[in-house]
Formats: sequence, structure tokens, C-alpha cells
Amino acid sequence: MNESVDVIVIGSGIGGLTSAALLQERGFSTLVFEKNRYPGGSCSSFQREGYCFDAGASVFYGFGENSKSGTLNLHTRIFRKLGIELPTIHDPVQIHYHLPNGFSLPAYYDRQTFLDALALRFPHEREGIEKFYSELDDVFDILSSLPAGSLEDLVHLATIGVSFPAKAIALAIKTFRSMGKTARRYIRDEELLRFIDIEAYAWAVQDAVATPLVNAGICLADRHYGGINYPVGGSGAIPKALCQGIEKFGGRICYQSEVTSILLEHGEARGVRLADGNEYYAKAVISNATVWDTFNRLITDSRYSVDENRFLRAPSWFQLYLGVDASVIPEDFYVHHILVDNWDDYNKPGGTIYLSVPTMLDPSLAPQGKHIVHAFVTAEADQWQQYDRENGAYRNTKEALAASILSRTERILPGLSNAIELKVLATPLTHQRYLNRYKGSYGPLLKPGQYILQKPQNTTAIKNLFAAGDSTFPGQGVIAVTYSGISCASYIARQFGKPLDELL
Ligand SMILES: Cc1cc2nc3c(=O)[nH]c(=O)nc-3n(C[C@H](O)[C@H](O)[C@H](O)COP(=O)(O)OP(=O)(O)OC[C@H]3O[C@@H](n4cnc5c(N)ncnc54)[C@H](O)[C@@H]3O)c2cc1C
Repeated sequence: MNESVDVIVIGSGIGGLTSAALLQERGFSTLVFEKNRYPGGSCSSFQREGYCFDAGASVFYGFGENSKSGTLNLHTRIFRKLGIELPTIHDPVQIHYHLPNGFSLPAYYDRQTFLDALALRFPHEREGIEKFYSELDDVFDILSSLPAGSLEDLVHLATIGVSFPAKAIALAIKTFRSMGKTARRYIRDEELLRFIDIEAYAWAVQDAVATPLVNAGICLADRHYGGINYPVGGSGAIPKALCQGIEKFGGRICYQSEVTSILLEHGEARGVRLADGNEYYAKAVISNATVWDTFNRLITDSRYSVDENRFLRAPSWFQLYLGVDASVIPEDFYVHHILVDNWDDYNKPGGTIYLSVPTMLDPSLAPQGKHIVHAFVTAEADQWQQYDRENGAYRNTKEALAASILSRTERILPGLSNAIELKVLATPLTHQRYLNRYKGSYGPLLKPGQYILQKPQNTTAIKNLFAAGDSTFPGQGVIAVTYSGISCASYIARQFGKPLDELL
């Protein structure tokens, strides 16, 4: 079969689906190839024995209202544009932190309640706390008034420059600043600076100094405006709704369709070849795979290969998906938690435990009388490569690591180990295998000293080959890859003479 469309998308992660949905709605024909039987990648759901687990993401921004979240409510705006309903449930707390020395703090939706609770622990730093978080609000204030578009699109940049000159200049200056260095201008207390680090690490998997202020301004300010909202039906409801949008306007998603190579002709992308040998052609190809998988696997021409050292490679994950008896979860338990036992190794593999109980918001995800617990820690694929997945040593190592994570988690959920009814364990090898992500990595990170604008944008060294997803600006996270999907679609649409409308 040799079919031709306007745009082929490799992968149905949120970045790829967002691009496809917006392009299809604008009248471009799109075809998405996904290797799995379901969409969403790191933001998908999977079912086991009556439980519906979030495969990865479960803290969601971008579902706010225009009045509260400005232009940052990207999911709301995209689904409005597509005419698709996606109900969500408001989460009153972004993350409940359980830190060393009995330091426990929920990051409340209400900003002042959060700041007061933080200042209660650090009364001598009240002024510094107010000033630091106001800096994040300033970034939010700028970003939430600018329309989303491509930073490679000169027309978009000119529009912003003319319509919002002061904000454009202020933002340009802030792109050179780091979250941690900004915190150090106002705060001296070492424990509080550690807290600022974990506020970054929670989603950036880097300390605050390595985290751009601009990214922090979205996550740590919008949680108090648009807030955190959980999609009814679990994380997989987001990609499903995007697929509905693509199909509503005549596009197609082909599952169990792995792309094995990107077809190049005279240095231009012309289409893709699937594992079954079929070839498909397009005017543009968008890769939603990681930068390493796109340029070192799907493209075999070594002139385009990406040196491993060009980026920092974020670690992968070891994950526990548990079905538990509901009696082990207190009634006032929040959905998302972060546990650090020791500040010396919070950023080492396994040092921080991430935990979520999405059934606190949507009980339909588990059988009656049960809850879901999703716990995960960072882990390196290299440490697991030595094992054969089928042999006992692999299973024993998995079980031993799971048992140590469970025992550390019992400090906030006593009796958890005995309440388990179903346990599914996933190592970095699982992550790598299911999502075709190089070494199961969370994606490329900025190196020390690099600025946010040095992240790759959507165009690539190959004509008509584009990239969307967490290897591109602004980076990891569902709202970030949604932005990358919008900017990729905007750039292509403008290039092909049918610019996208602003998302209202
Ligand atoms: C454990 C974990 C927890 C997380 N928690 C959060 C959170 O709470 N909040 C948040 O905002 N973010 C979170 N994230 C991050 C967020 O999920 C990701 O940054 C985001 O979903 C990545 O989207 P993407 O578009 O880059 O694509 P991916 O999710 O990587 O999806 C890519 C898709 O492409 C497919 N694919 C790849 N190669 C091919 C090929 N050759 N042919 C066909 N198909 C292919 C894959 O199967 C996959 O479906 C979490 C991630 C993980 C792993």
C-alpha cells in the first residue's frame, strides 16, 4: 500500500496527537502511526483485573478556565476548538510533600494558604518566600497573556512583539534565568532551598538551579490559578479525546503500526516505512519519538545522528502499580505525594518516591472497596540491562526493589504491603520496550549553563521533518508537550499556507 497524506505523525504521545488534531481540524490530512494498541504513550491508561492504571502522568495542568488561567489552559482551548468534551475533577492539592525532619507540606490550590503554611515552618524567611513566589507569578502573568505559537514562526514573533512589547522584552530576559538562582536572591535557609529544589525535581527531575525560571513559572504558579485537574476516566482519557478529535475531522490513527524508518530523498523527509514493509508518503513528517530514537534509529544516515553527549539524558523509572484494599488509604489522603527520606540522595536513582492515588478523585478506576496506588522512583536502564527479562534474577531484583519502596512508603501509608491485592512492576526496560524510548529515558535535559531557548524547536536539520514531544521546547510534562504539539502544528500550517487560528 502506498498511501499519501499531508502530514504523517510517528507516535501517538500527547505531543504528536496535539499536532495531528490541530492540523486535521484546519483541513490538512493526517495519519498517525502508533506501535501500541492504544494512544497516549507516557500519558496512557492500561487495564488489569478491573483496575485502570495511569501508565505515567497523573498531575495535570492546562484544564483551567480562560478567566483564571489565561492562555495557559491549553487543554481547555484545544478541546473547545475540537468540540470534544473532557470532564475533569478539581484536585485541591498539587502534591503533598513528606520531607526529612518531619517537614510535611501540601502545595494547596489556594496560593496564600500554601505560602502561609510554608512561612509557618520558616518564619524568618517569610519575606523571601513571598518575593520568590512572586517572581514565579510574574512569569505566569506574562505567559498567560501570550497566545501559543511557534518561536520559529517570524509572523507569530512579530505579532507578539507588536501586541505585547513590554511583556515580550521581560520574558526574553527571564528566559536566561534559573529558578534556583532566583530563589537564592531572596532565601538563605538551606532547608528551604532544599524545598525549592524538590519543587523543581518533582516535575523537572533536576534541581532548581538547573531548572529554567520560565518552566517553573508555569508549573508552580498555574497550580494556584488554573489548578490541577484530573480527567474522568484517568490519564488515558486525554489521548482518547485527542484521537476522537482527529477522527471527527477525518484523520486516522493506525495502532500496532511501528515505524521502522523515515524515508529521505535528497535530504528531505518524504514518508515512513512500517515494520510490515509498507511505505506511506507525506508532505511533512512529524516525529513524536525521542531525539535519540528519531535520529539514531529511524534515520540511518549517520550525517544526522545525535551525539549522546549533546544533551543530559534524564533517568528512566521503576514503577509499582498496585490495587489495594481501600481501608489502607485514609479518607483525607491527598492524591499526589512525594517522599524524601534524606536530602543527600533525593536526586540519586531511587532517592525520591512519587506516589499517587487517583481513585481518591475517580473511584470508578478500581473495583468497589479498592484503591489504586501508583508509586515510582527514578532508575537507570543500564543497571537493568544485565538481566534477561524471562529469568528469575530479573524477577527477584524487581521484587526486592519494590519491597524496599513499599517499606519506605509505609511511613505515610502504614500497612500498605499487607493491603496489596494486585501488583504490577515495571522497570526501565519495560518503559523502553513499551514506548520505544531510548534507555527508557524521561527525555533530554538542559546541561548546566544552557538556557531554555537552547532546547530543540520543532524544525530539524532535515527538510520537512519536524519533531514534537518532550525532546523539544519546552520539555517534559503533558502541558509542555501539548505546547510543543501546538507550536509544531502552527509552524507547519503557516508553511503550507493555511495558518492555524488562535486558540480561544
Ligand atoms: C512515570 C511518569 C510519570 C509522569 N508524571 C507526569 C505528571 O504527573 N504530569 C505531567 O505533566 N507529566 C508527567 N510525566 C511526563 C509526561 O507523561 C511526558 O513528558 C509526556 O507524556 C511525553 O509525551 P510525548 O508527546 O513526548 O510522547 P510519549 O509519551 O513518549 O509517546 C510517544 C508515543 O510514540 C510511540 N512511538 C515511539 N516510536 C514509535 C515508532 N517508531 N513507531 C510508532 N510509534 C512509536 C510510543 O509508543 C508512544 O505511544 C510523567 C512521565 C512518566 C514516565
